[in-house]
Amino acid sequence: VFTALLAAAAVSGLTTLVLILVEATNVLLPAGTKFGMVFDAGSSHTSLFVYQWPADKENNTGVVSQALACQVEGPGISSYATDPTAAGESLRGCLEKALARIPEAQLRETPLFLGATAGMRLLSQKNSSQARDVFAAVSRVLGRTPVDFQGAELLAGRDEGAFGWITINYVLGMLVEYSSAGKWIRPPEGTLVGALDLGGASSQISFVPEGPVLDTSTQASFRLYGSTYSIYTHSHLCFGRDQVLLRLLAGMAQRSPAGPLRHPCYHSGYWATLAPGALYESPCVHSTAPRNLTQNLTVEGTGDPGACTEAIRELFNFSSCKGQVDCAFDGVYQPPVRGPFYAFSNFYYTFHFLNLTSRQPLGTANATIWEFCRRPWKLVENSYPGQERWLRDYCASGLYILTLLLEGYGFSEETWSNIEFRGQVSASPVPASAPGEAGGAPEQPRVPQAGGTDIGWTLGYMLNLTGLIPAEAPAQWRAQSY
Ligand code: AMP
Repeated sequence: VFTALLAAAAVSGLTTLVLILVEATNVLLPAGTKFGMVFDAGSSHTSLFVYQWPADKENNTGVVSQALACQVEGPGISSYATDPTAAGESLRGCLEKALARIPEAQLRETPLFLGATAGMRLLSQKNSSQARDVFAAVSRVLGRTPVDFQGAELLAGRDEGAFGWITINYVLGMLVEYSSAGKWIRPPEGTLVGALDLGGASSQISFVPEGPVLDTSTQASFRLYGSTYSIYTHSHLCFGRDQVLLRLLAGMAQRSPAGPLRHPCYHSGYWATLAPGALYESPCVHSTAPRNLTQNLTVEGTGDPGACTEAIRELFNFSSCKGQVDCAFDGVYQPPVRGPFYAFSNFYYTFHFLNLTSRQPLGTANATIWEFCRRPWKLVENSYPGQERWLRDYCASGLYILTLLLEGYGFSEETWSNIEFRGQVSASPVPASAPGEAGGAPEQPRVPQAGGTDIGWTLGYMLNLTGLIPAEAPAQWRAQSY
């Protein structure tokens, strides 16, 4: 290349050589990769995600992909309420792994965020000064890293839902596409995907409804790539998996104050003694602790899915929505569900365990969960060696998911088939064309990358805070894409 440039210089003179060199430099330099880091400080645990994207395609949709996901050891930061320093220390292992993944020269320009969700929302309600101390402790550790720490904050439930919605639609290339007419356009409205998130302490639902959102407290509006979006989103606090399990147990304890607690959501033959303290500490548990609280609770399973479903129903206030179309439960406004949905986090973990992630009809899902709940504990234990951690609770979470989706959010046998249970999506390095059929699940992007992107709120949050999705579609895109 250099010889050719010298020859060109000999013919055209020095000015031309300089111009050619500048041009050549622009062409020959590899496109730099940029990085961003987000801690998801959830109620049950914390994860750290590192994202990467090519600097020269910064604002193209679907170019940000997940470079690393690290699970922080130990519980969520809200569990360190009485020892906040340990909350900060717990983040160090993942921080080191992430820092090793990023070239040293880029550390200073790499943004780092921490967002806390329902676990910290509950702690803030219960004891705001403890919550402040936990935020201060994690900020101290993160502020001393060589990256550009931008702060630790409590995410509002509405933002958690909205950023989950943005993540999915961004990664699937649903926010913008390159049309056959050579223009960047918004794909047809029907292809946008709703988000269903089941965390440890809260559950979020977000989608574009048929008509306007009538209760503005459940509306999120944003302008992305030249289009305005208005979605319905709501976070149901205390309806996450762990809090539901606690509330169920407290309900059972209330019903049988003396003697062993017979739990229909645990398999027959299951038996355990539990320290009841934590049960009554949660702000989601409203029943009062019995006087003999110091005694351990003996719990035995009866493996009765019908009775378990009945107990789960009691956690919802359905009567407050009776006769209203635009109401979910507990008096919360919700328009009828519409379009395809991705269900992730515990929706996915539970359905993945039960082999129900292949779009089985509702009847199959129902029968599979009931059959699983009726299996004796010995058989369950022997069938899933090494999976003890969540084994006892898949029956309860399976039945809870059915109740939440069908009776809570109002999915029907028909709209059930619009739900895709997924933990990850393969990121598309180019904007996806050919979206899926309206009403059905979207197709996967055409050029999947090795390793997917976890579905959750973190990517949408980072895209928003770093301005990676511009409000207007930049004109330069047109030039780039020819
Ligand atoms: P997360 O998405 O980490 O907030 O987790 C949501 C809920 O799923 C929490 O109640 C976790 O305890 C639970 N959970 C996490 N991983 C699994 C898993 N592999 N199987 C079942 N439940 C899980």
